[in-house]
Parts: sequence; structure tokens; C-alpha cells
Amino acid sequence: MKFSPEKMSIPDQRMRSFIDPEEIWNLINNTKPERQRVRDVIAKSLDKQRLTLEETAVLINAVGTDLSDEIKQGARELKQRVYGNRIVLFAPLYVGNRCINNCKYCGFRTSNADAVRKTLNDNEIIQEVEALEDSGQKRLILVYGEHPDYSPEYIAHTVKLVYGVRKGHGEIRRVNINAAPLDIEGFRIVGESGIGTYQVFQETYHPEAYKWYHLGGKKKDYEWRLTALDRAQEAGIDDVGIGALFGLYDWRFEVLGLVRHTNHLEACYDVGPHTISFPRIKDALSLNIDGTYQTSNEDFKKLVAILRLAVPYTGLILTAREAPDVRREVMQYGVSQIDGGTKLELGSYSDSKNEVQNLNREQFKINDPRSLAEVIDELLTNDYIPSFCTSCYRMGRTGEHFMEFSVPGFIKRFCTPNAILTLSEYICDYATDEVALKGWKVIEKNLQKLEPGVMQNTMEKIERIKKGERDLYF
Ligand code: SAM
Ligand code: SF4
Repeated sequence: MKFSPEKMSIPDQRMRSFIDPEEIWNLINNTKPERQRVRDVIAKSLDKQRLTLEETAVLINAVGTDLSDEIKQGARELKQRVYGNRIVLFAPLYVGNRCINNCKYCGFRTSNADAVRKTLNDNEIIQEVEALEDSGQKRLILVYGEHPDYSPEYIAHTVKLVYGVRKGHGEIRRVNINAAPLDIEGFRIVGESGIGTYQVFQETYHPEAYKWYHLGGKKKDYEWRLTALDRAQEAGIDDVGIGALFGLYDWRFEVLGLVRHTNHLEACYDVGPHTISFPRIKDALSLNIDGTYQTSNEDFKKLVAILRLAVPYTGLILTAREAPDVRREVMQYGVSQIDGGTKLELGSYSDSKNEVQNLNREQFKINDPRSLAEVIDELLTNDYIPSFCTSCYRMGRTGEHFMEFSVPGFIKRFCTPNAILTLSEYICDYATDEVALKGWKVIEKNLQKLEPGVMQNTMEKIERIKKGERDLYF
């Protein structure tokens, strides 16, 4: 019997695979990128409509033709038109690298006898968070291997611990999670600790390829992972992040897998993923991948542009796995969040002795080791507004990317003023004189773009921040 997701009732769809490899390969092999069609698809996205799988395949197949530049230009225009020039900043905090799984690409895999295993104790977590707060971070993603030590109760405990750390004006206002898939009860326990987004990356959406890379432990189970975020939704976590690890299988298949996953969540829960991540494989301890599906820089840029056009209202995350020059270019195509000041070695934010990366202690190699201050400096130089905003999540305005996208004036009323206010705090508390100067100029310029009333209100709040108040938002 042919797999037909459309014919299934929603409850049936929820807990089983919604990926049909044959359907995806048919789209890749049989969709023609005719010039006018490609342009119509780009125009549809610019008209704020999400794309179907087939339309996404049209863009995918236009890669390598002279239409590639039009796709990138479309993504750039969509970002400017819809989201403006804010970039949200965060940092990852690795809590523990014990792992029962055996993923061929990961330095933490259980068969890596040389990996130095560590789980931060409460005191070490507090020290790490204080160091992160001292650099100006407000948003973290906590990362864990998959291990019985990292139970839902333990994850919830670490989340609450992080929220409780205050140093000077420092505080963490949003804690996201990247950890193993849980059962519904487990998700409920973690959800109740007050997390932002729960991320689970499928790594590869192709079931056979998935088997090839995942040699042991619970992560071997493709469907358990694929349906993880359905269980999260059932448990009341409606803020979820999806991702694929590019380099495991054909990038075109993964892009359609991500779009299919998005469709599935929208169809079943009326809300798509909050964010999409697209890490590329980087060097790791005893990396065991042959490079057949390595995604080139050129393809990487295009696939980000295609994702931007395909799911125009979902946040896109670009991490320090990528080198600064790649980040600089890819950011234009619709990225909404990046990390800054990233360190992967457990305990290394508070202990800066080991500045050189040691792959025995890290999951993979990062290629943008710049400090948060350096990343912010560059963003300001390039006219972005670095933002630490956590307002929607704390005001209960869930689905903020969707609102940014679809509610007229939302960005001017909420996002830009909040970005300006969090940047003002950063300048007052952490910036050097030189960065402060650049920062106030960017703020001045962006204040002019606001409605007079909102501008006045924002300026008053900036004065209050200068006098020492914190955490003011709309
Ligand atoms: N243990 C959790 C899990 O597997 O879901 C957390 C995952 S890991 C700490 C976060 C992500 O890093 C993985 O989902 C994978 O996509 C990515 N990753 C693993 N090895 C990598 C490598 N060598 N290069 C780049 N990214 C990698
Ligand atoms: Fe463990 Fe995650 Fe690494 Fe796989 S990717 S070995 S599950 S930490």
C-alpha cells in the first residue's frame, strides 16, 4: 500500500513516520525548474505565503542554473522586508557529554574511548552561567548527551538552576534545550521547568541513511526521534526546533525533509517549528564519515536561501560551526539567530586556560571562535541590531515569528524597540567605549524608523536603562 499522509486522520499521523522517501525523491527527480515557474515561486514567498513541497523542489532544482542568484536575492529581500535587520544572539552551554549512543559523526559517541567525559556539577553550572552573564549573554541553549544521568528531572533541575543565577545586572532570561527525545511525561517535566524551545535534530530524514550513521543506543530508532516533537506537543511544549545535519545525505532530500516536518507539525498542531537549524558536519574526535555528501559552501548558501523562502515565518539558526566569512554571507539570506562567544568544552566559559580547542573534550570543531563582543562589534559595523530580546516568550506571545511575519506593524511595535532596549542594556553593562559608540549610532538610526509614539516610549525606557533599571520591554 502506498504511504499517503493526506488520507490519515490526524491522531494516526502524529506518532508515526510522515516521511516518504519515494515521494521526496520523485519530487527531486521530476520537478522542472522552468524560468517563469521559479520566479512565480519566489514571488509567492515574497507575498508571504509558505511554499509546498513541490514548489520547494522547483527552487532546489534551479540550483546550479543562472536562477540561483534570483533565489538568493529573493531570500535577501524577504529577510529585509519581513524581519528587518535584527539578529538574536545566544550561546550554547554543554552540561554533560556522557552518551549511550553511537553516532558516527559525533565526538561524544560511546565508542570514543578517548573522549573525556564530564557532567558539570551544580557549582560548575553556576560558574559557567556567571561567566556567560559577565560577557552579556541573556539567552542560552543547554546541551546534553543521551544518558540515564540526564533524566527529565535532572534536565529540569539544571534549567531552574540556570534561571536562578544572577550576577551584577546579569541574568539568563531564556533557556532553550538540545537533548535527547523524551516520552510525553518526560517532556512534561522539562516543559514545566520553564524552557523556551526544545530542539531535536533528525540529523538525516532518510531512514536508510539514518540507520547507517546511528550504530547504537536509543538513537538508532528513526521513528522515535522523528516523532519526538509530536510527543513534546502532546506534553504541552509548543515551542520546538527541528534540524538536519548536512553532510550525512543528499542536501536536497534534507531540505524537503525539513519542509515536510514543518508541514506535519502545522497540520497536526496548528503551529510549525519555532526554529530550523542546518548544522554542517565539522571535524570531531575519530570522525567516521566519508565525505560523499559533503555540502559545499555554495550549496550551503543556496539551501539556506531556499529554506528562508519555503518557510518564511520560521526562525533560522546559524551557528559557530561555520567560519566568520560564511556566517557573514549566509546571514543575509534570512538567518534570525546566531551564537556568539561559543565554547564547547565543558566548563570552559569560566576556565579560560584552554583557549585551543581539544577534540577529546568537545563534540566537534567550531570555526568561529570569536568572543561575543567581537561578534557584536561586527554586527553593528554591518548595520544589524544585535538583540537579546526574550519578550514574546515571557509575555506569553507564542508563535512570535509568525506574528512578526503576519501581523502588520508587529516588528515596529515590538521587535525593533525590544532589540534596541536589550542592546542599550548590553552597551551600558558590557560594551567597550568603541562598541558603545557604534551601538548608540545604530540605535539612533533605528529609532527614527519607529512610529512617533513608540519612538518616544522607547527613548524614555533607554533613559531609565541609563539610570540603572533593567529588563524593560514591550
Ligand atoms: N545528544 C543530543 C542529540 O543527539 O540529540 C544532543 C545533540 S548534539 C549535542 C547537538 C547536535 O550537534 C546534533 O543533533 C548534531 O546535529 C550536531 N552534531 C553532532 N556531531 C557533529 C559534528 N561532527 N559536526 C557538526 N555538528 C554535529
Ligand atoms: Fe550522543 Fe548526541 Fe553525540 Fe549522538 S549526537 S553520540 S546522541 S551526543
